[in-house]
Amino acid sequence: MTIDHCDARFKTLFEPVAIGPVTAPNRFYQVPHASGATNASPRVRAGLRAVKAEGGWGVICTGACSIHPSCDDAPLPFATMWDDDDIRAHALMTDAVHEHGALAGVELFHGGGGVLNRQTRLPALTPSGKGWSSNHSVFMSPGRPRAMDAADLKDLVHWQAAAAKRAKQAGFDIIYVYAGMGYLPHEFMLPDYNERTDGYGGSMENRVRIIREMLEATRDAVGDGIAVALRISLEELLTRPGTVMETEAHEAVSLLSPYTDLFDVKMDSSPTDCGPSRFVPEASHERMAGFVKSCTDKPVVGVGRFTSPDTMVSQVRRGVLDFIGAARPSIADPFLPNKIREGREDEIRECIGCNMCIASWHEGVLVRCTQNPSFGEEWRRGWHPEKVKPAGSTDRVLIVGGGPAGLECALTLGRRGYDVAIADAGSEMGGRVLFESGLPGLSAWRRVIDYRLGQLKVMPNVELYSESALDAEQILEFGFERVVLATGATWTPALFTKMEIAGEELDHPNVYTPSDLAAGAKPEGPVIVLDCDFHVMGGVLAEKIALSGQAVTYVSPAGGASAWTINANEQIFVHQRLHDLGVPIRTLERVNGFDGATATVADMLTDRETQLPCKSLVIVGLRRQNSDLHDALMERTADWGDAGIRTVERTGDALSPGAIAHAVFYGRATAEAMDGPKFLTFKRDGAFHTPPERNGNAMIAAMVD
Ligand code: ADP
Ligand code: SF4
Repeated sequence: MTIDHCDARFKTLFEPVAIGPVTAPNRFYQVPHASGATNASPRVRAGLRAVKAEGGWGVICTGACSIHPSCDDAPLPFATMWDDDDIRAHALMTDAVHEHGALAGVELFHGGGGVLNRQTRLPALTPSGKGWSSNHSVFMSPGRPRAMDAADLKDLVHWQAAAAKRAKQAGFDIIYVYAGMGYLPHEFMLPDYNERTDGYGGSMENRVRIIREMLEATRDAVGDGIAVALRISLEELLTRPGTVMETEAHEAVSLLSPYTDLFDVKMDSSPTDCGPSRFVPEASHERMAGFVKSCTDKPVVGVGRFTSPDTMVSQVRRGVLDFIGAARPSIADPFLPNKIREGREDEIRECIGCNMCIASWHEGVLVRCTQNPSFGEEWRRGWHPEKVKPAGSTDRVLIVGGGPAGLECALTLGRRGYDVAIADAGSEMGGRVLFESGLPGLSAWRRVIDYRLGQLKVMPNVELYSESALDAEQILEFGFERVVLATGATWTPALFTKMEIAGEELDHPNVYTPSDLAAGAKPEGPVIVLDCDFHVMGGVLAEKIALSGQAVTYVSPAGGASAWTINANEQIFVHQRLHDLGVPIRTLERVNGFDGATATVADMLTDRETQLPCKSLVIVGLRRQNSDLHDALMERTADWGDAGIRTVERTGDALSPGAIAHAVFYGRATAEAMDGPKFLTFKRDGAFHTPPERNGNAMIAAMVD
């Protein structure tokens, strides 16, 4: 790999940087992030990390990796470093990462009161016995933690050291102490949470003592050749005046700086750390990273959903940070560094900030990405973000529908070498994204179209036809061997029942769906937006209608606005925005009826009905596949032979309505399966298990170690 084509402005991004005893080959640092791949799927995990090393990231880290069974984050996915089988599982990743010349880091963690030990059933440990309150369903539990005694503190340091030794054996170059996001070492730093009166509570020096001991124990355990890193959250401490320095955050950084080789700067909570682009712009962490950098001579990693190389260089040059940290941009484009290095910045598949990735962790499953459908599928489906297998035949493919599914399908088939024609009824390609990216705050979603169209337009084997609505007859006349229907889905005006099932469709001229609004309908106020979809659409339409000057009320059977988006760190911002716009939020309610002047709203728990004045009702609920064209072609199967058609299949929302991420994924899967393997088949991964007679009882060994 040469740097010859790299724009001179960006060369600083490819300078090696020392992290204590090890040296990163460049400034691109994939910070620890959840992947959903645990030690039970080590090959999947190695695959998704290694592809980023291949794409030029200089440092690749694991997600949170528990040091002991008293840190059990189930049902959320997490890695473990508890026994020798865990060493083998992680070694797959470190070997794969090293093959591409990158450093491998492990984010050792103890979650304290932030994990609930639902599987191991060990008591949760905290500085003072206070629960880490959260009403997010996966964090709620009637279990309460206990206060750590002196023996627990010794154990914690010992577990960190034992895990660090195993991490060294697994081949890691950088070993973390994780003092962020409400996990145990962070809990010690927070005065509201740490009420200890011994040497671990009170002054800032006392409150960072456990972190210092964990850093020292890590270094002692692994010796000289391995870097020790500290991941730290300082938002809250930066608001607290210090006793000897300006703030407690200043004191914490200066007290800990001598003991770490690197600061990885994190915000205090998931929404502020990893906010959706709708509400949080690129480079939003600059103040925090820059603050840490100004207090230490150790290298600093900062994140900020960076996709612009100019922003990255600017932060390095202005001394905000040393490493361009990334989770999401590295998921959306594992080859981002190499593309900059090779002068191909315009080919970067930019993260759109939709947070479908982080939502997968909250749902307890393997990570998925709207922009990069291959992410997580490297090993189990053999997909790659940049490479595809060659075409398996000379069949020509007609794709009907140029939304995200059709475009992704065309892109993969085009790269594979198939002759592809893609036809869309609209004046522009892009399907649903054309409307959705025009909604308040969602302009970054347009990148889904821009990236794909940019690539497709220069492919000699791909023809794009807009303003081309096709019917079955025209498709038969087209005479291509393969037909893919990516015709999308349509929102219906179905009301939801007490059982939360889509029921009767409301037929009234003042009832609208998102499909009607996309076609240009303008509901007259007062408007009710009924959200039975729970994703982004209901909340953002209420926002749009309010911004247009109409009175609007948001109603949903769920317990909060845009309820599912709590998984995407978005819900808190939706509530704030609707509140700021004066939009009443009525939760745990459904709409039972509407007559053009009044809506009948019913409480989900008591069934008590209320009449609300309402001229227009916008129903955001059931979406149905657009299947007319498919049905028409199925009725003509007898004519396929003469027309030369071999297969007709559906993809994207026309196959199964979902988020854009689902549509893109199906588009890729359809293209991959054009000539086998069968649609959506995959290999199953499995954990390593040493027979107990050779390993002893690993769990108990780890606990008493
Ligand atoms: P997906 O999310 O699955 O990609 P979209 O709804 O975004 O689906 O896109 C579907 C696209 O299919 C729309 O742009 C629509 O114009 C197009 N389309 C639907 N039916 C036809 C048809 N009969 N001929 C051409 N284009 C069609
Ligand atoms: Fe970015 Fe969305 Fe992909 Fe996450 S899922 S990396 S936010 S594009």
